[in-house]
Amino acid sequence: MIFTVLLVILLGFVWFSLRYAWWRPAVDYRYPRILMYHMISTPRPVALFNGLRVSPQLFERQLRWLSAQGWHSFTVSELLARAGTLPEKSFAITFDDGYADNALQALPLLKKYRCKATLYLVVDRFDRDWSLQRKKRHDEAELKRETKLSDQQVQEMLDSGCIELGSHSMTHANFLRIESEAVGRELIDSKHALEERFGVSVGSFAYPFGLYHPQQVELVKQAGYRSAVTTREGIENAGSWEPLALKRIKISGKDNWLAFLLRMRRGRRGWRP
Ligand SMILES: [Zn+2]
Repeated sequence: MIFTVLLVILLGFVWFSLRYAWWRPAVDYRYPRILMYHMISTPRPVALFNGLRVSPQLFERQLRWLSAQGWHSFTVSELLARAGTLPEKSFAITFDDGYADNALQALPLLKKYRCKATLYLVVDRFDRDWSLQRKKRHDEAELKRETKLSDQQVQEMLDSGCIELGSHSMTHANFLRIESEAVGRELIDSKHALEERFGVSVGSFAYPFGLYHPQQVELVKQAGYRSAVTTREGIENAGSWEPLALKRIKISGKDNWLAFLLRMRRGRRGWRP
């Protein structure tokens, strides 16, 4: 009996350790954290993309914690511009795709906690099911049904003064599946379309699905972007990072609070190096 209890405790400890890798030290707090969000909305029963849905309550708890712990909020372009002179505990919030809840739910909270964010907007985001271009499993139209930001809502976000506009391509194309010329158009046309429509300069890009060939980084540069974010997880030294292939911290609606804290400390939740 005692043996069984001890074994269960031991297995529980091993599971917990592998899941959270609690022994790993924090990444240097002089290295900025770039946080990746998609939707700020309540997760739905039996939905495929609940990892992309961070509830407004959880988002507010995270912002409150960041503010109470003395973190400093920047946009991605500000992080780039100030690399080398950034204070300890700098971070940037990013939103990918352009869901309407970014204006309805996230913006009021960003204002309340005086936080900035970079919005990576898909230009042609209405009636488009880009999840199809990645895996068959995603053939659900779940993301297609999500209400996207109208241009007016985007304008409202920009008028708040706390939002930087970045591009997330024209159509959310999978860069691994299209020719260089088409990649170039996705990069250049989206930059011009957003700049023209909203009258701001667009200097940052987010790779659709985080997917790209290493040689496409040069195309991003040629298109005139100064920074680009990926979906690779991690935290980097702003003195030596690659501005056109920045790592981010995935903020998942499926994570518990401990997982969020560990991601802020180390860039990822689990045991992988
Ligand atoms: Zn996306």
